[in-house]
Order: sequence, then C-alpha cells, then structure tokens
Amino acid sequence: MLVCNFSGGKAGDPGLMEYNEVVTFFHEFGHLMHHILGGQGEWSGEGGFNVEGDFIESPSQMLEEMFHDTAILQSFGKHYQTGETIPASLIAKMNAASAYGRGRWLQGQLWASTYSLQVHNQAPASLDFDALLKADDARFSPFTPVEGDRFYASFTHLVGYTSNYYTYVLDKVIAIDFFAQFDKHNLLDGPTAMRYRRAVLEPGAAKPAADVVKDFLGRPQSMEALKNWMNEEF
Ligand SMILES: [Zn+2]
Repeated sequence: MLVCNFSGGKAGDPGLMEYNEVVTFFHEFGHLMHHILGGQGEWSGEGGFNVEGDFIESPSQMLEEMFHDTAILQSFGKHYQTGETIPASLIAKMNAASAYGRGRWLQGQLWASTYSLQVHNQAPASLDFDALLKADDARFSPFTPVEGDRFYASFTHLVGYTSNYYTYVLDKVIAIDFFAQFDKHNLLDGPTAMRYRRAVLEPGAAKPAADVVKDFLGRPQSMEALKNWMNEEF
C-alpha cells in the first residue's frame, strides 16, 4: 500500500487533491508497481526497491508522465459534485501549461543535487549553509536570491537521500527516454506497456540497472528524449 500525506481525510472534506499531489501519487504508484512486480523473484533482496540508488527514481518518474494522458485521467477524474468527467480541453490546457519552465526546473534539480553533495563532502564544523546557498544560487538560478532564504531548512531530502539527491535528475533522463518508447495514443494497451513491465519492472534488482535499461531501450540511455521534453512548446 501507499501511505501518503494528501488532502482530505477529515469528515466533510472531499479531499480535493492539488495538481502536484496527483503527480506525486502517480510517482509513488510507480514505486509501488516496481516493488510489486519486481518482488516476485526467488530472493526478497532482489526486489524492486533494492535496485541501485542511481536507478530507483526511474520507474516512478516514468509513471509521472502517464498523468498527462487524457484516457487515463478520464478513467477516474470526475467532478466531485456533478460527476462530470474531466474535459479533454482542460487536460490539453493543463498539459500545455506543464511544459512551461522545464529548463528552469532542471536548473533547480542541478542546484539541489549540487547542494546536497556539498553539505556532505566537507567537515561539518566548517560548513556554512548560507554561503553555499548563495554560491549555488549564483551558479544555477537566473534570479536574485531573496535575503533570509533558508531553503535548506525544508529540503527534507537532505536527510533522507543525504548526498544522493542527484539520482532524481539522473533518473529523469532514463524515465523520459523510457516514456518516449510508448505509443502516446495507446499507453496502456500497446505492446510497449507489457514489454516495459517484463524488461524493467519484473527483474527488480536481479540484474544491473544498466542492463535493464539496455534490455528495454535496445541501447544505453541518451539525453535526446530529455532534450525534446524540455523543448516542448507550451
Ligand atoms: Zn520517488
């Protein structure tokens, strides 16, 4: 099961999820499917969650992309009062808007990856969180930092992922490359979906992730799909 902090849960609250919550739900569902389908092997230590940390965020971020599909969203997205199915025109607008600022998002991921490494590869006594924040802002952000910003105080992955936050951006490359192999008009029923399940999810950690990637793509991952993703028009 997934145990998440989402909207709702109190009496009388319909639990209307924000856009980002639904994306997060798809993301965590990607982990869940990896865990379930990759957990059928002979040894529990070879389950989906035991793949290399450098790969663990690929299946989850791949499933995030499914969130943009009209057929998938319309299969469950209903107005909570009228029961009306979410209109295709609204999904189209939402998808167009989602293409905005992807390059800036990537800069942010590179910022976070760099910062999380820097606070773990030097002596704690000499660590200056604010000076690092300023330097990395200057390097990765086009905006003037707001004085008094203490972003690191709410950067929870600094504890959970320690220096390994980079796995998100590394795996985004793989996730988008994976998704680019699917037939966009037939995400669930096309042969690619079953091929993906067999080649990527079911092996769990029974083989090196680099081999899993090659088994599905027929080659190592490349940057091309990510570049196309960043260049999508909004
Ligand atoms: Zn994740």
